Amino acid sequence: MVETGFSKHISDAGDLLDIDKAIVDRVIKPERVLESYVSVVVDGEAKNFRCIRCQHSSLLGPYKGGIRFHPEVTLEESLELAQTMTFKNAVVDVPFGGAKGGVVCNPKEMSEKELMELSRKYIESLNDFIGPEKDIPAPDVNTGPKNMAVMMDSYSELVGKNVPAVVTGKPVEVGGTELRSGATGRGVATVYHEYIQDHGYSINDVDVAIQGYGKVGQVAAELIDSYGSNVVGLSDSTGAIIDENGLPTTEIREWKEKTGSVIGFNETTEITNKELLTLDVDVLIPAALANAINKEIADQIQAEVIIEAANNPITPTADKILNEKNHTIIPDILANAGGVTASYLEWVQNMQHHSWSQEKLVNELDTKMKTAYQNVKKTKTKKPKTHSYRESAIQMALQKLTKTLKLRKPIFK
Ligand code: NAD
Repeated sequence: MVETGFSKHISDAGDLLDIDKAIVDRVIKPERVLESYVSVVVDGEAKNFRCIRCQHSSLLGPYKGGIRFHPEVTLEESLELAQTMTFKNAVVDVPFGGAKGGVVCNPKEMSEKELMELSRKYIESLNDFIGPEKDIPAPDVNTGPKNMAVMMDSYSELVGKNVPAVVTGKPVEVGGTELRSGATGRGVATVYHEYIQDHGYSINDVDVAIQGYGKVGQVAAELIDSYGSNVVGLSDSTGAIIDENGLPTTEIREWKEKTGSVIGFNETTEITNKELLTLDVDVLIPAALANAINKEIADQIQAEVIIEAANNPITPTADKILNEKNHTIIPDILANAGGVTASYLEWVQNMQHHSWSQEKLVNELDTKMKTAYQNVKKTKTKKPKTHSYRESAIQMALQKLTKTLKLRKPIFK
């Protein structure tokens, strides 16, 4: 089985906590890896597609994780992302395990009809292994609510009854929640608020830069702006803008919806994407791509605090440099766990055949995120004392997984 970067984090935490090697190894390894091939007609011709589903851990509940459609989907990537999901769900304390999967395809070369057929076939090929109490897929890169509606329909047809709880991130009309699309950004903003309050900043004096103005970045920016902090820099794939007096985040979202870019908004100054990452701000929020902060950029970062809204936005070498320079990093498995928390709330409602008010959903999400932040903070002060929030979050999750493993499988001591 392939080694992943996240496996190293888990084994380091195991060493620090003095956990038996066999237990750590069991937690690292996936419970099941599925591979199948499906055929779909593309441009009038039959084409075969490789489908992957990595079911990493069901110790804490049914497997849970997204399905991406991308030419570079691999087993190694799916395993690493599935491990991350197991740990993220443990940190935010939702009763799910971790999974991830995908289809090796290029969605840019396929019509919507063909992509929906691929979604249906994916579920058909893995039908025996998924289910609302087995494995619950969700959207990921290049998949969204429409794919989820078709996947839910495909599963429901196969089992002969309506089963909305088999996937999350569905459109509201088929059992999804309005909360889901903005939940990750909301969770990022909640963690930001907790950290700022806890560390003696005056919220109105905090300068923030956000890389990526998409689904996550926009919601986080608008909430942080509404708390009274100054969002002084924003970027997207077309470039970055700054205003030291604070940017009007809502107007910029509307501008981007109209023009497709944050660039050119009123009197804002344009800078490069790299300059945005190295701005003299208090908080930097990477909300765009994996590996956005590499070794070269890490050396030039000025922000005291970095909140990882994206998955893996900091390379391992950059992470080391930033820790040595005493920057605080709030890791992705805590900061962006709002998405899976909202998925959990959607699943609970589907299982109960009930729907909650938006207010109740927002309260539940905020409470879960605040509690997760406080628990990670508490772990940081316990022995063995950890240097970073990442180590604390991973240790906290590993302890929980270890305890459950020993109870469920007493052969482990
Ligand atoms: P998105 O596609 O809606 O937005 C991504 C944004 O990043 C876009 O504005 C894009 O223009 C910008 N971008 C791309 N390349 C850039 C570059 N080089 N410099 C600056 N900006 C760049 O995606 P999203 O859903 O907002 O997700 C953002 C990140 O958060 C991804 O890493 C995703 O994996 C992670 N994430 C998302 C969710 C979720 O619920 N959407 C949950 C967990 C993690």
